[in-house]
Amino acid sequence: MTASLEFRDLPKIELHLHLEGAAPPAFIRGLAREKSVDIGGIFDENGNYTYRDFDHFLKVYDAACTTLQGPEDFHRLTLAVLEESASHGVIYTESFLSPDFCGGGDLAAWRDYLAAIEAAAAEAETRFGITMRGIITAIRHLGPDQSRNTARVAAETAGDFITGFGLAGAELMGRPGDYTYAFDAAREAGLELTAHAGEWGGPDMVADTIRDLRVSRIGHGINAIHDLALVDVLAETGTVLEVCPGSNVFLNAVKDWPSHPIARLRDRGVKVTVSTDDPPYFLTTMSDEYANLARHFAFGPDDFAELNRTALDAAFCDAKTKERLAARLEKA
Ligand SMILES: [Zn+2]
Repeated sequence: MTASLEFRDLPKIELHLHLEGAAPPAFIRGLAREKSVDIGGIFDENGNYTYRDFDHFLKVYDAACTTLQGPEDFHRLTLAVLEESASHGVIYTESFLSPDFCGGGDLAAWRDYLAAIEAAAAEAETRFGITMRGIITAIRHLGPDQSRNTARVAAETAGDFITGFGLAGAELMGRPGDYTYAFDAAREAGLELTAHAGEWGGPDMVADTIRDLRVSRIGHGINAIHDLALVDVLAETGTVLEVCPGSNVFLNAVKDWPSHPIARLRDRGVKVTVSTDDPPYFLTTMSDEYANLARHFAFGPDDFAELNRTALDAAFCDAKTKERLAARLEKA
């Protein structure tokens, strides 16, 4: 999309990116070849990821992840993802990291993966000018017991780099209250909190997530629009939505771009931000997201500046890092 070119150099803050979900398809194909892993069925004739619906998407995602077999692979993955993000003007990204994909949830194994990811992030900061922080993410469809283990792993490795805890995966499995224990443990460890809700679930899922998990941010949250009283609560409490419009359109969580509620939520006072979620799976980039917001909702420079300020305010990083990033946003 050529319209996205004009937004490429604009500095951007991204809060919602799944590390494995951002893996460029060519990178995964390369790994599969190296390791002789057969994942041919997950690509279409153009070399992009292909799947039928959200459940199948999760399966293809897991299949792609089978090529990521050790810390060194995650080092390379992190570099590839951050280089791609930086090429679209992203100066700060928060990435969901899953110990379940990195050593099967074992703490000692996770430490090795984390060291590799963190080293790659430091290298990317020097080479590409992008700062990364990690949000350790429990996978909902693995169940509450596993989420407790993930929270324990998160608590043990919380620090300057791991700053958040989250919940992703199949939203309609179980209720938010099933994960309260994990979120309480993560909060006690000083981690900031976010959870996917209201992408597939209704407003009740968003309301229960805020009540039971006490998160400051919600991943997606777009279905809150079906309950205006809830929208007003989000606005009053300053709950930040990590909105991923391209993802929502591609997966048919909304009908099309014009019917996406991002502008309506913002106009009613909700703090919205914009991210790509799993960009190559949805054939999007941050530049494309901005181009579509300009095209469908007439977002201009002031709107984008506001989106980025909101995102930086809500970012799970220390004040010094925020100051440094704010200066870069302002310069643009
Ligand atoms: Zn997501």
